[in-house]
Amino acid sequence: MKRIVVLGGGESGVGAAVLAKVKGFDVFLSDKGKIAGKYAEELEKWNIPYESGQHTEELILNADEVIKSPGIPSTAPMVEKIAARGIGIISEIEFAGRYDRAKKICITGSNGKTTTTSLIYYLLKNAGLNVGLGGNIGKSYALQVATENYDIYVLELSSFQLDNMYDFKADIAIITNITPDHLDRYDHKLENYVKAKFRITQNMDSEDCFIFCSDDEITINHLNKIVIRAKKLPFTQKTEVAQGAFVRDDRMIVRYNDSECDMFLQELALGGRHNVYNSMAAAIAGKIMDIDNDTIREALSSFQPVEHRLEKVLSIGDVLYINDSKATNVDAAWYALECQTRPVVWIVGGTDKGNDYAPLVPLAEEKVKAIICLGVDNRKIHEAFSKAVPEMYDVTSAEDAVKTAHRIAAAGDVVLLSPCCASFDLFKNYEDRGRQFKEAVRNL
Ligand code: ADP
Repeated sequence: MKRIVVLGGGESGVGAAVLAKVKGFDVFLSDKGKIAGKYAEELEKWNIPYESGQHTEELILNADEVIKSPGIPSTAPMVEKIAARGIGIISEIEFAGRYDRAKKICITGSNGKTTTTSLIYYLLKNAGLNVGLGGNIGKSYALQVATENYDIYVLELSSFQLDNMYDFKADIAIITNITPDHLDRYDHKLENYVKAKFRITQNMDSEDCFIFCSDDEITINHLNKIVIRAKKLPFTQKTEVAQGAFVRDDRMIVRYNDSECDMFLQELALGGRHNVYNSMAAAIAGKIMDIDNDTIREALSSFQPVEHRLEKVLSIGDVLYINDSKATNVDAAWYALECQTRPVVWIVGGTDKGNDYAPLVPLAEEKVKAIICLGVDNRKIHEAFSKAVPEMYDVTSAEDAVKTAHRIAAAGDVVLLSPCCASFDLFKNYEDRGRQFKEAVRNL
């Protein structure tokens, strides 16, 4: 019996192990860290042998194939040993794709993945289709392939999930945009990161569709260098295109084959220029899936923002509090600031990922009346913005950030948590940061 070893006992790894079990393999799961209670229970429920807190070489290096969770870098010592033995290493998505005949709509990009994925899922569900949502969001794809029976999957794929994918093929692939992020995992080479993103288009043929942002220079530069057989459907806010989506005056227009759908930008449920892009990408996918225009318009105008993405929390004394904790890089924070029409008290900071704040300075100068630095080390933020923004404060908790904001904000202002940085210096993760922020706002 073929032996499959799964490395990593989180959502992805446990899903892969369950699918391997269902498909009749000899399965073993190993996690060097501690496996969370709910995943250990799941493994026990399925009778899957596993180890937690260690890697036992004899139980791993006898694998015929290894499924590596996306959180484990290829430079981890155990992964290097497996590779040195010549054992094939694949990702959970690659593995699950082997057993899935459903149509696959796959979304990657530096920013906007979750929003665009959720929008498309919502759109297809509203159209009455039998659709599943997975990948980097919610339940793992592999677990659903093992236990559900969907006709279509909408999958959010991070670049880490795209690594170790070889034969997987998307029917519709979307790259929302590409800005430098996570370069530490790609030898600090942008080219490697871009190539990982473009893996989403591999194996596609002329019946498949590739949706991308033609205003994104990095995407276009790479696209000009490679051959993609899929139909190319750009979305843009700068020009008009024959196929794809663009903006004319105050409307968004989507064209696919001979059919056109248009919609007032004002009607889009999600505000901000970045969400015009996300909505365009979702609408193109909707047209390809042959969803009627009314359903597309209705879905794009009624979708509720995903938690921690420009999420309006409360208005107190005409000060609006917005939670954009998921803005963990410069580009996301740029769009958050760009779409503000009221004076901003900006809560920013955290673990700096080698950020260059320069692109934000003009926006800060124009819109931000005060900065509240929420981080352990705020020096770079002070250096970047002290000339552009009149008031700056330093805090080390969400509660203090909110209290300070409450003290200095005037009626008509916005208090925007859009941190531009990772959260690990003070919080468990970006969700924890966003929830603590919201709780502090509700306690005001
Ligand atoms: P991802 O899943 O790629 O991290 P999200 O949809 O979770 O993307 O959004 C992450 C952050 O990026 C949020 O702050 C959001 O407001 C911002 N954002 C969303 N879409 C875009 C986009 N198309 N371009 C730039 N920033 C975006």
